[in-house]
Amino acid sequence: MKSYRKELWFQVPTRRAFINITGDVEQCLAESGISEGLVLVNAMHITASVFINDDESGLHHDYEKWLEKLAPHEPVSQYRHNVGEDNADAHMKRQIMGREVVVAVTGGRLDFGTWERIFYGEFDGRRKKRVLVKIIGE
Ligand code: ZN
Repeated sequence: MKSYRKELWFQVPTRRAFINITGDVEQCLAESGISEGLVLVNAMHITASVFINDDESGLHHDYEKWLEKLAPHEPVSQYRHNVGEDNADAHMKRQIMGREVVVAVTGGRLDFGTWERIFYGEFDGRRKKRVLVKIIGE
């Protein structure tokens, strides 16, 4: 069995963003030389997510509105976590959108369902953060 590991780094200039990282993961898969196996992609921070869905800007706008309704950033004083920080909402948004995805690798390609793409969800940006890509197989 072969094994591959790489960290992808992001520095998002805004507090929140959704970034399509499918191409980065495909690049990792090509580097790994693995054609049958599994790829795990996970955010290495508790205020960011990795998730799979449609690359459609209307949907991303809807996510932003929905997440802000569930866990509004302001007023920051509403959260007990926000003693000396202001990112309680980011922890909650991360919880809803998830930590990681696993995608099957078949014939050297990511074996996606229809319209599936991989996204990095940033909820407390403006600093350097990492995503882990781990691929196992042969
Ligand atoms: Zn925090």
